[in-house]
Amino acid sequence: MAMLPLRLPTIQNWSCHNCSGCCRQHLIEITDEERQRILDQNWQPNDGVPAGQPVVVPHHSSLFRKSYRLAHRDDGACVFLREDGLCRIHAKFGEAAKPLACRIYPYAFHPSGSRVTVSLRFSCPSVVANRGKSVVENRDELKSMQRLVVPDGTEMLPPPRVSQREKVDWNDFLRFVDCLDDVFADDDEPFIERLFRALQIVELIEQSRFHLVAGKRLSEFLDVISEATSEGDLPDPEKPNHAAMIQFRLLVAYYARRDTVADLNAGFAGRWRLLRAATRFASGRGNATPLQDCFHEIPFETIEQPFGGLPDGTDEVLSRYVRVKLQGLHFCGAAYYDVPFCEGFQSLALIIPSIFWLARWLAASNDRSSLTLDDVSKALAIADHHHGYSPMFGSGSFRRRVRLLASSGDIARLLLWYSQ
Ligand code: SF4
Repeated sequence: MAMLPLRLPTIQNWSCHNCSGCCRQHLIEITDEERQRILDQNWQPNDGVPAGQPVVVPHHSSLFRKSYRLAHRDDGACVFLREDGLCRIHAKFGEAAKPLACRIYPYAFHPSGSRVTVSLRFSCPSVVANRGKSVVENRDELKSMQRLVVPDGTEMLPPPRVSQREKVDWNDFLRFVDCLDDVFADDDEPFIERLFRALQIVELIEQSRFHLVAGKRLSEFLDVISEATSEGDLPDPEKPNHAAMIQFRLLVAYYARRDTVADLNAGFAGRWRLLRAATRFASGRGNATPLQDCFHEIPFETIEQPFGGLPDGTDEVLSRYVRVKLQGLHFCGAAYYDVPFCEGFQSLALIIPSIFWLARWLAASNDRSSLTLDDVSKALAIADHHHGYSPMFGSGSFRRRVRLLASSGDIARLLLWYSQ
């Protein structure tokens, strides 16, 4: 059967620079076939795998199913990570012998009607820094991956809903996506203003009905609301109320978490630390409890004071981030807990003030009271590690939090408040 054409994020570059970040942060679940293949590879101490070190370990087990993952060493790294940052399986048996999840990262493939769209995970520092070959130059490699991960019949999958009430066909769904992408493509406007406008457009879409508006008329409607939101200045920053701040800080605490093997093994002590951190984040009093080594105990008051604006380069990295997620449909539907377009975009918008908050925490942890682009880039990688991947973000309580902050106008308030 002919493969569906790929829709690629043409604004993004990437090549692996062997920083080994993904081999330390991610737990790689493997199929039964991959488990058997790795066991058959018969790893020995002279391959660099110590005697008695398991190479695969149970991941989740239930009455009906037991799953496995690659084992990690005591220092947290994947058992197959070599000192030079390369993979032992790749070096000894070739790329095809690695688990599929390792081969695909940081790419993600999503259904897009008669095409398949490609996004990237910004948990990889090379993606954040836009380092390497253009994604378009990687097309042949992506085609090979597509053969492995995209099942037949993908073109039959329906598009995500537009809102809780509205659904349209793929052609019209992509008109909504393109409308938002066009907003972020306008480099002349500061990123914060573009995101503020996009939130207004999404609010209008959420209030509208589309059963009589399709095709060319839908494009005209989107042009009109896009034009209408381009007028007027941004309001003055206003701190969200106490209830909204509690909801927001709890969200930030989840983005600030780590879920490496060391955290999984932390047992009761780890759960106690998370509970204590959540209580502190909800109250916003005292010091923020560090959930990763890069964060120190810093008073909430310090993190939440103005930080002198955003550093140069922030607009480029964040608008590229939002555009890759939009073009790659990495914010709603099958790629994001099956949430509708509007809710998915609101969730994507909410990650931005969360990134600013984490960037301030990183800066304050290094005794600085202003941000660098490195703070923003690191905060983006930390937050995107979870976005769309941690089951918690798809839970009912999480989704209610996003809807509450969106309907009260607090996503826009948080955005303006933390960009100062
Ligand atoms: S995090 Fe990115 S650059 Fe680093 S090893 Fe993984 S894929 Fe390569």
